Amino acid sequence: MRWTQAHIPTLREDPVEAEVASHRLMLRAGLIRKLSSGVYSYLPLGQRVLLKVIAVIREAMNAAGAQEVLLPALQPEELWKRSGRAEAMGQEMIRFKDRHGKLMVLGPTHEEVITNLVAGELRSYRQLPINLYQIQTKFRDEPRPRFGVIRSSEFLMKDAYSFDRDTAGLDRSYQAMYETYEAIFRRCDLPVLPVLADTGVMGGSDSHEFMVPAAHGEDEVVRCACGYAASRERAVKTAGRDVGAGAPCPQCGKPLALEPAIEVGHIFKLGAKYTQALGATFLDEDGAQKPLIMGCYGIGVSRILPTVIETHHDDAGIQWPAAIAPYTVDIVPLNVQHTPSFDAAQSLYQALRAAGVDAILDDRDDRAGVKLKDADLIGFPIRVVISEKTLAQSQVEVKIRATGQTSFLPLASAAASLPPLVSPLA
Ligand SMILES: [Zn+2]
Repeated sequence: MRWTQAHIPTLREDPVEAEVASHRLMLRAGLIRKLSSGVYSYLPLGQRVLLKVIAVIREAMNAAGAQEVLLPALQPEELWKRSGRAEAMGQEMIRFKDRHGKLMVLGPTHEEVITNLVAGELRSYRQLPINLYQIQTKFRDEPRPRFGVIRSSEFLMKDAYSFDRDTAGLDRSYQAMYETYEAIFRRCDLPVLPVLADTGVMGGSDSHEFMVPAAHGEDEVVRCACGYAASRERAVKTAGRDVGAGAPCPQCGKPLALEPAIEVGHIFKLGAKYTQALGATFLDEDGAQKPLIMGCYGIGVSRILPTVIETHHDDAGIQWPAAIAPYTVDIVPLNVQHTPSFDAAQSLYQALRAAGVDAILDDRDDRAGVKLKDADLIGFPIRVVISEKTLAQSQVEVKIRATGQTSFLPLASAAASLPPLVSPLA
């Protein structure tokens, strides 16, 4: 992409409404814009990051043998009455009447819909196990939308649902998703802490949340040097009283540490809660009709963006991990009026694109300072500067955003030596 043909509206000033770094940087780097409280549009660079996060998730889910579906956001409330959750969801679920007077909801999650679907599809043990997932917009009427897309009323989620013959099968499906989640978050360079979690309104037996320790996290985790880690909610429920910093670890008795964190994933062993309520049974090998044994697995896709930014930024801006950066390499001819160096920059850009590198060419006729500040603010993993000075040495200057480390490469071989620099980052 050529910068002059792109829509990248970076902001010089800190927006007043942004309380946390990720919200401030997403607005300033031109990733998102607010429509109303808790509702955001993604601009081209924000959408590019979202699509890269989705690609990471999709690749890992498919590799784990899950199959992608797309379920409706529009759901009859009656289905939620049948599962018993119509009341439990309370005001968080957006409800309305359609023109025929039928009560409808905008899906905050999809256990009811998927269970209703498989009730008509999965009839025999021969079709099991199966794992179906989707990437879709969810709606929750948030009482306190905050921190940009960290807590918003409309958000993108990946939700997967496994169906097994028995609890031993569920244990295997759950373990496979646990490992897949670790792989996904590793590729996004998120330092996740899987913790024991409360099952809450979802129900079921076991549950883990994938937490990223962060100063402005709205969740809290308790952890101990012995390896014990749980959401505070869960620790409180287990102990039957409040659990703060210094409370004894339920595993070893030593004092617990308390940390704020952002939840990016949550997995549950649901068992037969939904399949029993909604009549999703299968014919087992022994000839008996049994309820499908279910697990569900969520990732807050849009929430990954601010969470990565919370853990990857400095005073100058974002430091994207290469796998999910809006562009991997930013080529910056410092002075586009200087024809030889601008030509060299354009040739390098073409060569990198041809080699499959996701490059952007900053062809703006703007001051060098503006272009370099924008490069740091948006946080492209690699910045390549070409100027009259570097050209006189037949070199380009390469800066790694994450470390600030700069080096010089021969111009003639830059197109060949940059891709190997990029790939270990991704
Ligand atoms: Zn302990």
